[in-house]
Amino acid sequence: MIINYDDKTNSINANYLQSLVLMYLPCEKFALSDEDKSSLSVFADYDDNKREYTAKTVLYHNGRISEKTLCEIKDESNANQGKNVVGKAFLECAKEIFGYVPQWGIMTGIRPAKVAVNYLSDHSESETRKYLEKEYLVSKNRAKVCVMTAVNEMKLVKNIKDNSASVYISIPFCPSKCRYCSFVSSSTKKLLSLIPDYLEKLYSDIEKISRFSKSSGIKIETVYIGGGTPAILDENQISKLLHVVNDNFYSGDLREFTFEAGRPDCTTKEKLRIIKGAGVTRLSINTQTTNDDILCAVGRKHTFEDYKRCMNEAHDAGFDNINTDLIAGLPGESEKSFEKSVDDIAAVSPANITVHTFALKKSSVYKTQDAEKIDANSKTAAKMINYSSKKIISCGYEPYYMYKQKNTVGNLDNTGYSKKGFECLYNVYMMGEYHTVFSAGADGSTKYVSRDRNTIKRIFSPKYPYEYLDESKYAGFDEKSAYEFYEKYY
Ligand code: SF4
Repeated sequence: MIINYDDKTNSINANYLQSLVLMYLPCEKFALSDEDKSSLSVFADYDDNKREYTAKTVLYHNGRISEKTLCEIKDESNANQGKNVVGKAFLECAKEIFGYVPQWGIMTGIRPAKVAVNYLSDHSESETRKYLEKEYLVSKNRAKVCVMTAVNEMKLVKNIKDNSASVYISIPFCPSKCRYCSFVSSSTKKLLSLIPDYLEKLYSDIEKISRFSKSSGIKIETVYIGGGTPAILDENQISKLLHVVNDNFYSGDLREFTFEAGRPDCTTKEKLRIIKGAGVTRLSINTQTTNDDILCAVGRKHTFEDYKRCMNEAHDAGFDNINTDLIAGLPGESEKSFEKSVDDIAAVSPANITVHTFALKKSSVYKTQDAEKIDANSKTAAKMINYSSKKIISCGYEPYYMYKQKNTVGNLDNTGYSKKGFECLYNVYMMGEYHTVFSAGADGSTKYVSRDRNTIKRIFSPKYPYEYLDESKYAGFDEKSAYEFYEKYY
Protein backbone atom coordinates (compact mmCIF):
# COMPACT_ATOMS: atom_id res chain seq x y z
CA MET A 1 0.00 0.00 0.00
CA ILE A 2 1.13 3.55 -0.73
CA ILE A 3 0.74 6.03 2.11
CA ASN A 4 0.84 9.81 1.58
CA TYR A 5 0.28 12.38 4.27
CA ASP A 6 0.37 16.10 4.78
CA ASP A 7 0.32 16.86 8.50
CA LYS A 8 0.18 20.50 9.59
CA THR A 9 -0.36 19.47 13.22
CA ASN A 10 2.89 17.56 13.81
CA SER A 11 0.85 14.78 15.41
CA ILE A 12 1.31 11.79 13.12
CA ASN A 13 4.01 9.93 11.25
CA ALA A 14 4.25 7.10 8.72
CA ASN A 15 4.56 4.49 11.50
CA TYR A 16 1.26 5.51 13.04
CA LEU A 17 -0.54 5.39 9.70
CA GLN A 18 0.99 2.00 8.90
CA SER A 19 -0.10 0.65 12.27
CA LEU A 20 -3.68 1.77 11.52
CA VAL A 21 -3.60 -0.08 8.19
CA LEU A 22 -2.07 -3.19 9.82
CA MET A 23 -5.05 -3.43 12.17
CA TYR A 24 -7.09 -4.48 9.15
CA LEU A 25 -4.39 -5.91 6.90
CA PRO A 26 -1.69 -7.55 9.09
CA CYS A 27 0.22 -8.84 6.06
CA GLU A 28 0.24 -5.52 4.19
CA LYS A 29 3.54 -4.27 2.81
CA PHE A 30 4.23 -0.58 2.35
CA ALA A 31 5.92 0.48 -0.83
CA LEU A 32 6.42 3.53 -3.03
CA SER A 33 4.62 1.87 -5.89
CA ASP A 34 1.87 -0.68 -5.56
CA GLU A 35 0.60 -3.03 -8.24
CA ASP A 36 -2.68 -3.51 -6.37
CA LYS A 37 -3.06 0.27 -6.22
CA SER A 38 -4.04 0.33 -2.56
CA SER A 39 -3.46 3.71 -0.98
CA LEU A 40 -4.10 5.85 2.04
CA SER A 41 -3.94 9.65 1.81
CA VAL A 42 -4.18 11.81 4.91
CA PHE A 43 -4.43 15.55 5.41
CA ALA A 44 -4.36 16.88 8.99
CA ASP A 45 -4.69 20.50 10.03
CA TYR A 46 -5.37 22.71 13.04
CA ASP A 47 -7.13 26.09 12.77
CA ASP A 48 -6.00 28.33 15.61
CA ASN A 49 -8.85 30.84 15.14
CA LYS A 50 -11.56 28.22 15.25
CA ARG A 51 -9.49 26.08 17.70
CA GLU A 52 -10.41 23.12 15.54
CA TYR A 53 -8.63 19.98 14.31
CA THR A 54 -9.49 18.64 10.86
CA ALA A 55 -8.52 15.27 9.43
CA LYS A 56 -9.30 14.11 5.93
CA THR A 57 -8.55 10.53 4.94
CA VAL A 58 -8.98 8.75 1.64
CA LEU A 59 -8.61 4.97 1.65
CA TYR A 60 -8.49 2.97 -1.55
CA HIS A 61 -8.41 -0.84 -1.40
CA ASN A 62 -9.42 -3.65 -3.76
CA GLY A 63 -11.23 -1.27 -6.11
CA ARG A 64 -13.22 0.40 -3.34
CA ILE A 65 -12.73 3.94 -2.13
CA SER A 66 -13.85 5.77 0.99
CA GLU A 67 -13.28 9.40 1.86
CA LYS A 68 -14.03 11.01 5.24
CA THR A 69 -13.44 14.37 6.89
CA LEU A 70 -13.65 14.82 10.64
CA CYS A 71 -13.45 18.03 12.70
CA GLU A 72 -13.07 18.36 16.48
CA ILE A 73 -12.90 21.44 18.70
CA LYS A 74 -9.66 21.46 20.68
CA ASP A 75 -9.85 19.78 24.09
CA GLU A 76 -7.03 21.24 26.21
CA SER A 77 -6.89 18.14 28.40
CA ASN A 78 -6.28 15.80 25.45
CA ALA A 79 -2.62 15.79 24.38
CA ASN A 80 -3.24 13.12 21.72
CA GLN A 81 -6.20 14.77 20.05
CA GLY A 82 -4.47 15.65 16.76
CA LYS A 83 -3.38 12.04 16.28
CA ASN A 84 -6.68 10.56 17.43
CA VAL A 85 -8.75 12.68 15.04
CA VAL A 86 -6.73 11.21 12.16
CA GLY A 87 -7.24 7.71 13.61
CA LYS A 88 -10.99 8.21 13.87
CA ALA A 89 -11.25 9.55 10.30
CA PHE A 90 -9.26 6.54 9.09
CA LEU A 91 -11.55 4.20 10.99
CA GLU A 92 -14.63 5.72 9.33
CA CYS A 93 -13.12 4.89 5.94
CA ALA A 94 -11.99 1.42 6.98
CA LYS A 95 -15.41 0.62 8.45
CA GLU A 96 -16.99 1.44 5.10
CA ILE A 97 -14.53 -0.72 3.18
CA PHE A 98 -14.03 -3.67 5.54
CA GLY A 99 -17.43 -3.59 7.26
CA TYR A 100 -16.38 -3.57 10.90
CA VAL A 101 -14.62 -1.61 13.66
CA PRO A 102 -11.87 -3.54 15.54
CA GLN A 103 -12.42 -4.20 19.23
CA TRP A 104 -9.65 -1.78 20.17
CA GLY A 105 -10.79 0.99 17.83
CA ILE A 106 -7.81 3.23 17.09
CA MET A 107 -5.71 2.11 20.04
CA THR A 108 -2.45 1.07 18.49
CA GLY A 109 1.20 1.41 19.50
CA ILE A 110 0.33 2.10 23.11
CA ARG A 111 -0.28 -0.15 26.12
CA PRO A 112 -4.05 0.02 26.77
CA ALA A 113 -3.75 -0.27 30.56
CA LYS A 114 -1.26 2.62 30.58
CA VAL A 115 -3.87 4.89 29.00
CA ALA A 116 -6.41 3.72 31.58
CA VAL A 117 -3.99 4.04 34.54
CA ASN A 118 -3.20 7.64 33.53
CA TYR A 119 -6.86 8.55 33.14
CA LEU A 120 -7.85 6.86 36.40
CA SER A 121 -5.54 9.18 38.32
CA ASP A 122 -8.28 11.85 38.27
CA HIS A 123 -11.36 10.09 36.94
CA SER A 124 -13.67 7.33 38.12
CA GLU A 125 -13.71 3.84 36.64
CA SER A 126 -16.90 4.50 34.69
CA GLU A 127 -15.53 7.80 33.33
CA THR A 128 -12.40 5.96 32.22
CA ARG A 129 -14.44 3.27 30.47
CA LYS A 130 -16.42 5.95 28.63
CA TYR A 131 -13.21 7.80 27.71
CA LEU A 132 -11.77 4.64 26.09
CA GLU A 133 -15.02 4.04 24.23
CA LYS A 134 -15.36 7.63 22.97
CA GLU A 135 -11.78 8.79 22.43
CA TYR A 136 -10.30 5.50 21.14
CA LEU A 137 -13.51 3.79 19.94
CA VAL A 138 -12.74 0.75 22.10
CA SER A 139 -15.59 -1.81 22.42
CA LYS A 140 -17.55 -1.93 25.67
CA ASN A 141 -16.16 -5.36 26.54
CA ARG A 142 -12.47 -4.47 26.01
CA ALA A 143 -12.90 -1.09 27.77
CA LYS A 144 -14.34 -2.91 30.80
CA VAL A 145 -11.50 -5.46 30.90
CA CYS A 146 -8.91 -2.73 30.35
CA VAL A 147 -10.18 -0.64 33.28
CA MET A 148 -10.33 -3.71 35.55
CA THR A 149 -6.72 -4.47 34.54
CA ALA A 150 -5.59 -0.91 35.25
CA VAL A 151 -7.25 -0.90 38.69
CA ASN A 152 -5.49 -4.16 39.59
CA GLU A 153 -2.17 -2.93 38.20
CA MET A 154 -2.41 0.18 40.39
CA LYS A 155 -3.03 -1.98 43.48
CA LEU A 156 -0.17 -4.35 42.66
CA VAL A 157 2.47 -1.67 42.18
CA LYS A 158 1.66 0.08 45.45
CA ASN A 159 4.11 -2.10 47.35
CA ILE A 160 6.96 -2.03 44.86
CA LYS A 161 10.22 -1.48 46.74
CA ASP A 162 12.32 1.62 46.29
CA ASN A 163 15.37 0.97 44.08
CA SER A 164 14.16 -2.50 43.13
CA ALA A 165 14.59 -4.44 39.89
CA SER A 166 13.71 -7.76 38.28
CA VAL A 167 15.85 -10.30 36.47
CA TYR A 168 14.93 -12.20 33.31
CA ILE A 169 16.91 -15.33 32.45
CA SER A 170 16.56 -16.58 28.90
CA ILE A 171 16.67 -20.23 27.83
CA PRO A 172 16.08 -19.89 24.07
CA PHE A 173 15.88 -23.60 23.26
CA CYS A 174 12.85 -25.74 22.39
CA PRO A 175 12.45 -29.41 21.50
CA SER A 176 10.75 -28.45 18.22
CA LYS A 177 9.39 -25.31 16.67
CA CYS A 178 5.68 -24.46 16.78
CA ARG A 179 4.40 -23.27 13.42
CA TYR A 180 3.11 -19.94 14.72
CA CYS A 181 6.33 -19.04 16.55
CA SER A 182 8.98 -16.65 15.33
CA PHE A 183 10.94 -16.83 18.54
CA VAL A 184 14.62 -17.46 17.94
CA SER A 185 14.41 -20.64 19.99
CA SER A 186 16.86 -23.23 18.75
CA SER A 187 15.43 -26.65 18.17
CA THR A 188 17.82 -28.44 15.82
CA LYS A 189 20.18 -31.08 17.20
CA LYS A 190 23.23 -28.97 16.36
CA LEU A 191 21.89 -25.92 18.15
CA LEU A 192 20.70 -27.92 21.15
CA SER A 193 24.28 -29.15 21.55
CA LEU A 194 25.21 -25.55 22.48
CA ILE A 195 23.25 -25.78 25.74
CA PRO A 196 26.19 -26.68 28.06
CA ASP A 197 28.36 -23.78 26.79
CA TYR A 198 25.37 -21.48 26.77
CA LEU A 199 24.68 -22.21 30.43
CA GLU A 200 28.29 -21.45 31.41
CA LYS A 201 28.12 -18.03 29.77
CA LEU A 202 24.67 -17.48 31.30
CA TYR A 203 26.08 -18.10 34.79
CA SER A 204 28.74 -15.52 34.13
CA ASP A 205 26.07 -12.95 33.11
CA ILE A 206 24.01 -13.80 36.20
CA GLU A 207 27.06 -13.21 38.40
CA LYS A 208 27.80 -9.87 36.72
CA ILE A 209 24.20 -8.68 37.20
CA SER A 210 24.31 -9.81 40.81
CA ARG A 211 27.63 -8.04 41.45
CA PHE A 212 26.32 -4.82 39.94
CA SER A 213 22.96 -4.90 41.74
CA LYS A 214 24.57 -5.63 45.11
CA SER A 215 27.15 -2.88 44.73
CA SER A 216 24.39 -0.42 43.75
CA GLY A 217 22.02 -1.36 46.57
CA ILE A 218 19.39 -2.64 44.10
CA LYS A 219 16.80 -5.01 45.56
CA ILE A 220 15.93 -7.87 43.23
CA GLU A 221 12.19 -8.41 43.73
CA THR A 222 11.37 -10.92 41.01
CA VAL A 223 13.24 -13.46 38.90
CA TYR A 224 11.72 -14.99 35.76
CA ILE A 225 13.29 -17.90 33.90
CA GLY A 226 11.67 -17.91 30.47
CA GLY A 227 12.12 -19.31 27.01
CA GLY A 228 11.92 -21.03 24.70
CA THR A 229 11.21 -23.95 26.94
CA PRO A 230 13.38 -23.88 30.07
CA ALA A 231 12.17 -27.39 30.99
CA ILE A 232 14.16 -28.68 28.01
CA LEU A 233 17.21 -28.62 30.34
CA ASP A 234 17.97 -31.94 32.00
CA GLU A 235 17.66 -32.49 35.75
CA ASN A 236 21.29 -31.63 36.49
CA GLN A 237 21.23 -28.52 34.35
CA ILE A 238 18.01 -27.27 35.99
CA SER A 239 19.41 -27.99 39.43
CA LYS A 240 22.66 -26.11 38.72
CA LEU A 241 20.87 -23.16 37.09
CA LEU A 242 18.50 -22.73 40.03
CA HIS A 243 21.41 -23.08 42.44
CA VAL A 244 23.29 -20.27 40.63
CA VAL A 245 20.17 -18.06 40.62
CA ASN A 246 19.61 -18.60 44.35
CA ASP A 247 23.26 -17.96 45.16
CA ASN A 248 23.10 -14.65 43.35
CA PHE A 249 19.60 -13.32 43.88
CA TYR A 250 18.03 -15.00 46.88
CA SER A 251 17.40 -12.47 49.67
CA GLY A 252 14.56 -11.24 51.85
CA ASP A 253 13.67 -8.81 49.03
CA LEU A 254 12.89 -11.58 46.52
CA ARG A 255 9.10 -11.83 46.30
CA GLU A 256 8.59 -14.05 43.26
CA PHE A 257 10.56 -16.66 41.35
CA THR A 258 8.99 -17.96 38.12
CA PHE A 259 10.07 -20.92 36.02
CA GLU A 260 8.35 -21.10 32.65
CA ALA A 261 8.28 -24.85 32.24
CA GLY A 262 6.55 -24.24 28.92
CA ARG A 263 5.46 -27.32 27.03
CA PRO A 264 4.22 -30.30 29.02
CA ASP A 265 6.25 -32.68 26.84
CA CYS A 266 9.44 -31.52 28.57
CA THR A 267 8.65 -31.80 32.27
CA THR A 268 9.13 -34.86 34.48
CA LYS A 269 8.20 -35.51 38.11
CA GLU A 270 11.86 -35.25 39.00
CA LYS A 271 12.33 -31.90 37.26
CA LEU A 272 9.25 -30.51 39.02
CA ARG A 273 10.55 -31.78 42.36
CA ILE A 274 13.91 -30.08 41.78
CA ILE A 275 12.26 -26.82 40.69
CA LYS A 276 10.01 -26.75 43.75
CA GLY A 277 12.88 -27.70 46.05
CA ALA A 278 14.91 -24.74 44.77
CA GLY A 279 12.29 -22.26 45.98
CA VAL A 280 10.55 -21.46 42.69
CA THR A 281 7.21 -19.88 43.61
CA ARG A 282 5.46 -19.82 40.26
CA LEU A 283 5.33 -22.15 37.25
CA SER A 284 4.00 -21.71 33.77
CA ILE A 285 2.67 -24.80 31.99
CA ASN A 286 1.11 -24.03 28.64
CA THR A 287 -1.15 -25.85 26.26
CA GLN A 288 -2.42 -22.93 24.06
CA THR A 289 -5.50 -24.99 23.08
CA THR A 290 -7.08 -28.15 24.45
CA ASN A 291 -7.99 -29.35 20.97
CA ASP A 292 -5.53 -32.16 20.11
CA ASP A 293 -6.05 -31.77 16.35
CA ILE A 294 -5.05 -28.10 16.55
CA LEU A 295 -2.10 -28.91 18.82
CA CYS A 296 -0.88 -31.34 16.19
CA ALA A 297 -1.54 -28.89 13.32
CA VAL A 298 0.44 -26.10 14.96
CA GLY A 299 3.36 -28.44 15.63
CA ARG A 300 3.15 -28.84 19.39
CA LYS A 301 4.20 -32.33 20.36
CA HIS A 302 1.79 -32.88 23.24
CA THR A 303 -1.88 -33.51 23.89
CA PHE A 304 -4.37 -32.00 26.34
CA GLU A 305 -3.99 -35.20 28.41
CA ASP A 306 -0.23 -34.52 28.66
CA TYR A 307 -1.01 -31.02 29.92
CA LYS A 308 -3.40 -32.37 32.58
CA ARG A 309 -0.83 -34.98 33.64
CA CYS A 310 1.79 -32.27 33.95
CA MET A 311 -0.54 -30.04 35.98
CA ASN A 312 -1.30 -32.91 38.37
CA GLU A 313 2.39 -33.66 38.80
CA ALA A 314 3.09 -29.96 39.45
CA HIS A 315 0.37 -29.88 42.12
CA ASP A 316 1.80 -33.07 43.64
CA ALA A 317 5.22 -31.39 43.72
CA GLY A 318 3.65 -28.62 45.83
CA PHE A 319 2.98 -25.82 43.32
CA ASP A 320 -0.17 -23.79 43.92
CA ASN A 321 0.72 -20.87 41.64
CA ILE A 322 0.66 -22.07 38.04
CA ASN A 323 -0.05 -20.11 34.89
CA THR A 324 -1.50 -21.57 31.71
CA ASP A 325 -1.41 -19.80 28.33
CA LEU A 326 -4.11 -20.07 25.69
CA ILE A 327 -4.07 -18.58 22.18
CA ALA A 328 -7.25 -17.26 20.56
CA GLY A 329 -7.46 -17.40 16.78
CA LEU A 330 -5.04 -20.24 16.00
CA PRO A 331 -5.42 -21.33 12.36
CA GLY A 332 -8.15 -23.95 12.11
CA GLU A 333 -9.59 -23.28 15.56
CA SER A 334 -13.33 -22.62 15.49
CA GLU A 335 -15.18 -20.41 17.93
CA LYS A 336 -16.75 -23.48 19.54
CA SER A 337 -13.46 -25.31 19.86
CA PHE A 338 -11.79 -22.29 21.47
CA GLU A 339 -14.69 -21.84 23.87
CA LYS A 340 -14.22 -25.47 24.86
CA SER A 341 -10.51 -24.77 25.48
CA VAL A 342 -11.41 -21.89 27.80
CA ASP A 343 -14.00 -24.04 29.60
CA ASP A 344 -11.52 -26.94 29.90
CA ILE A 345 -8.80 -24.72 31.38
CA ALA A 346 -11.26 -22.98 33.71
CA ALA A 347 -12.19 -26.47 34.95
CA VAL A 348 -8.52 -27.35 35.56
CA SER A 349 -8.42 -24.04 37.46
CA PRO A 350 -4.76 -22.92 37.41
CA ALA A 351 -4.00 -19.80 39.50
CA ASN A 352 -3.36 -17.74 36.35
CA ILE A 353 -4.76 -17.97 32.84
CA THR A 354 -3.16 -15.84 30.12
CA VAL A 355 -5.11 -15.49 26.90
CA HIS A 356 -3.00 -14.44 23.92
CA THR A 357 -4.23 -13.53 20.48
CA PHE A 358 -2.70 -15.35 17.55
CA ALA A 359 -0.10 -13.08 15.94
CA LEU A 360 1.15 -13.45 12.42
CA LYS A 361 4.83 -13.32 13.32
CA LYS A 362 7.46 -12.42 10.76
CA SER A 363 9.49 -15.60 10.55
CA SER A 364 6.84 -18.07 11.67
CA VAL A 365 6.01 -20.96 9.34
CA TYR A 366 2.49 -19.53 8.98
CA LYS A 367 3.73 -16.16 7.77
CA THR A 368 6.43 -17.53 5.48
CA GLN A 369 4.56 -20.52 4.02
CA ASP A 370 0.89 -20.54 4.96
CA ALA A 371 -0.19 -16.89 5.08
CA GLU A 372 -3.23 -17.59 2.92
CA LYS A 373 -4.63 -19.89 5.65
CA ILE A 374 -4.92 -16.98 8.05
CA ASP A 375 -8.12 -15.07 8.65
CA ALA A 376 -6.29 -11.84 9.40
CA ASN A 377 -9.36 -9.76 10.19
CA SER A 378 -10.75 -12.54 12.28
CA LYS A 379 -14.05 -11.39 13.70
CA THR A 380 -14.07 -14.91 15.13
CA ALA A 381 -10.96 -14.12 17.22
CA ALA A 382 -12.79 -11.07 18.64
CA LYS A 383 -15.65 -13.32 19.74
CA MET A 384 -13.13 -15.76 21.26
CA ILE A 385 -11.35 -13.02 23.21
CA ASN A 386 -14.64 -11.60 24.49
CA TYR A 387 -15.85 -15.08 25.46
CA SER A 388 -12.61 -15.79 27.32
CA SER A 389 -12.91 -12.58 29.37
CA LYS A 390 -16.50 -13.23 30.35
CA LYS A 391 -15.95 -16.89 31.21
CA ILE A 392 -12.68 -16.45 33.08
CA ILE A 393 -13.91 -13.45 35.09
CA SER A 394 -17.11 -15.36 35.94
CA CYS A 395 -14.90 -18.12 37.40
CA GLY A 396 -13.41 -15.71 39.96
CA TYR A 397 -10.30 -14.51 38.12
CA GLU A 398 -9.49 -10.85 37.47
CA PRO A 399 -7.44 -9.34 34.64
CA TYR A 400 -4.23 -7.81 35.99
CA TYR A 401 -1.93 -7.23 33.03
CA MET A 402 -2.54 -6.65 29.38
CA TYR A 403 -0.53 -5.79 26.32
CA LYS A 404 -0.92 -5.66 22.57
CA GLN A 405 1.47 -7.01 19.97
CA LYS A 406 1.86 -6.07 16.36
CA ASN A 407 0.12 -8.17 13.71
CA THR A 408 -2.35 -9.96 15.95
CA VAL A 409 -5.47 -11.14 14.16
CA GLY A 410 -8.17 -8.53 14.66
CA ASN A 411 -5.63 -6.26 16.45
CA LEU A 412 -6.64 -7.97 19.70
CA ASP A 413 -4.90 -8.10 23.08
CA ASN A 414 -3.02 -10.50 25.34
CA THR A 415 -4.45 -10.49 28.85
CA GLY A 416 -3.35 -12.18 32.05
CA TYR A 417 -6.04 -13.19 34.55
CA SER A 418 -5.38 -14.29 38.08
CA LYS A 419 -7.06 -15.60 41.17
CA LYS A 420 -6.66 -13.09 43.98
CA GLY A 421 -3.16 -13.07 45.44
CA PHE A 422 -1.55 -15.06 42.61
CA GLU A 423 -0.80 -12.21 40.17
CA CYS A 424 2.62 -12.33 38.52
CA LEU A 425 4.48 -9.24 39.71
CA TYR A 426 7.19 -9.68 37.09
CA ASN A 427 4.64 -9.29 34.29
CA VAL A 428 3.20 -6.13 35.83
CA TYR A 429 6.56 -4.50 36.60
CA MET A 430 8.06 -5.41 33.24
CA MET A 431 5.09 -4.49 31.07
CA GLY A 432 4.39 -1.26 32.92
CA GLU A 433 8.10 -0.29 33.03
CA TYR A 434 7.91 0.21 36.79
CA HIS A 435 11.55 -0.71 37.38
CA THR A 436 14.68 -2.00 35.65
CA VAL A 437 14.60 -5.53 34.27
CA PHE A 438 18.08 -7.02 33.89
CA SER A 439 18.33 -9.68 31.24
CA ALA A 440 20.76 -12.60 31.16
CA GLY A 441 21.11 -14.75 28.06
CA ALA A 442 20.50 -14.53 24.33
CA ASP A 443 17.53 -12.77 22.74
CA GLY A 444 16.91 -10.59 25.73
CA SER A 445 17.28 -6.95 26.50
CA THR A 446 18.07 -5.23 29.74
CA LYS A 447 15.58 -2.42 30.13
CA TYR A 448 16.86 0.30 32.44
CA VAL A 449 14.17 2.47 34.02
CA SER A 450 15.13 5.71 35.76
CA ARG A 451 13.97 6.39 39.31
CA ASP A 452 11.32 8.87 38.03
CA ARG A 453 10.30 6.38 35.26
CA ASN A 454 10.71 9.05 32.60
CA THR A 455 13.84 7.61 31.00
CA ILE A 456 14.09 4.13 29.53
CA LYS A 457 17.22 2.67 27.98
CA ARG A 458 17.45 -0.76 26.38
CA ILE A 459 20.63 -2.76 25.87
CA PHE A 460 20.10 -5.77 23.63
CA SER A 461 22.01 -9.03 23.82
CA PRO A 462 22.57 -11.11 20.67
CA LYS A 463 19.55 -12.90 19.27
CA TYR A 464 20.99 -16.35 18.72
CA PRO A 465 22.84 -18.60 21.17
CA TYR A 466 25.80 -19.02 18.77
CA GLU A 467 26.20 -15.22 18.62
CA TYR A 468 25.82 -15.00 22.38
CA LEU A 469 28.69 -17.48 22.73
CA ASP A 470 30.92 -15.57 20.31
CA GLU A 471 33.19 -13.39 22.49
CA SER A 472 33.90 -11.08 19.55
CA LYS A 473 30.16 -10.33 19.27
CA TYR A 474 29.19 -10.36 22.92
CA ALA A 475 31.53 -9.96 25.86
CA GLY A 476 28.83 -10.52 28.45
CA PHE A 477 26.53 -8.34 30.56
CA ASP A 478 27.63 -4.73 30.09
CA GLU A 479 28.44 -3.53 33.63
CA LYS A 480 29.82 -0.21 32.34
CA SER A 481 26.44 0.80 30.85
CA ALA A 482 24.73 -0.30 34.04
CA TYR A 483 26.95 1.92 36.23
CA GLU A 484 26.57 4.84 33.83
CA PHE A 485 22.78 4.61 33.85
CA TYR A 486 22.47 4.32 37.63
CA GLU A 487 24.97 7.13 38.28
CA LYS A 488 22.96 9.43 36.02
CA TYR A 489 19.40 8.49 36.96
CA TYR A 490 19.50 7.31 40.61
S1 SF4 B 1 7.41 -23.77 22.76
FE1 SF4 B 1 7.07 -21.56 22.70
S2 SF4 B 1 9.05 -20.64 22.21
FE2 SF4 B 1 9.18 -22.83 21.70
S3 SF4 B 1 8.69 -22.96 19.53
FE3 SF4 B 1 6.76 -23.28 20.66
S4 SF4 B 1 5.83 -21.24 20.88
FE4 SF4 B 1 7.99 -20.95 20.25
